[in-house]
Amino acid sequence: MSHPILNVEDVSKSYDGFKAISGLNFYLFKGELRTVIGPNGAGKSTFFDLITGRAKPDVGKIEFGDHDLTQLNEFQINRLGIGRKFQTPSVYSNHTVWENLLLSLSGTRGVFASLFFKLSSDQSDRIDELLKLIRLDDKRDWKAGALAHGEKQWLEIGMLLASDPEVLLIDEPAAGMTDEETHRTGELLLSLAGQHSLVVVEHDMTFVKQIAQDTAVTVLHQGSVLFEGKFDEVQANQKVREVYLGR
Ligand code: ADP
Ligand code: MG
Repeated sequence: MSHPILNVEDVSKSYDGFKAISGLNFYLFKGELRTVIGPNGAGKSTFFDLITGRAKPDVGKIEFGDHDLTQLNEFQINRLGIGRKFQTPSVYSNHTVWENLLLSLSGTRGVFASLFFKLSSDQSDRIDELLKLIRLDDKRDWKAGALAHGEKQWLEIGMLLASDPEVLLIDEPAAGMTDEETHRTGELLLSLAGQHSLVVVEHDMTFVKQIAQDTAVTVLHQGSVLFEGKFDEVQANQKVREVYLGR
């Protein structure tokens, strides 16, 4: 078995005495798509905060390759190749879809500079490729603010990819989407696995089933791993049912 690229060991984080994350272990292997579920307040977003340096663990180890992420800040961690998508899409509403991708390209510096910067053919090819991937090539000249909610989510995934991260942490990508949009989002994320390593936090069980396929799903509850297993095992697990049905 190869080495995990992301290694989270016995991590805890309290806020004013409240344990948001407690003794958490998590490993991500290269090219994997891992799904994390759990009720509201389970600590899913905090888990991402800890990996990305937005919050620091009280104890525990978080390693990415040879790097000890607990010693690095948010910017440094992002530069190492860990990208995050927050739950609510935040795109540049007054810029076009194409410009949003341009502004997010790795190596591009500054909003205004890049708008007047002459693109290399590589950069322009990369934007075309991303537009196709997120299925917004026919809307490349639309102002991002005019897109539907689901399209904004896809654009933001495209923007994340434009920065060329090795690991993608994606928080509830299907929130507020129609069934059709949710399914397309699942296809998009599945197409990224292999090339990228992904951790996807989600609530929608149909979506989880689609993206997890036969890989392990991690169930978080009160900041700890309640259960880990294949989707069918998760669904059948009594502890998991209590946590979900009990609410
Ligand atoms: P989830 O994403 O699973 O819904 P969160 O990780 O957002 O859950 O939150 C887990 C718990 O930690 C919640 O009770 C939340 O109020 C608390 N928490 C998260 N971040 C902070 C913070 N910055 N300050 C105080 N409490 C926080
Ligand atoms: Mg959350």
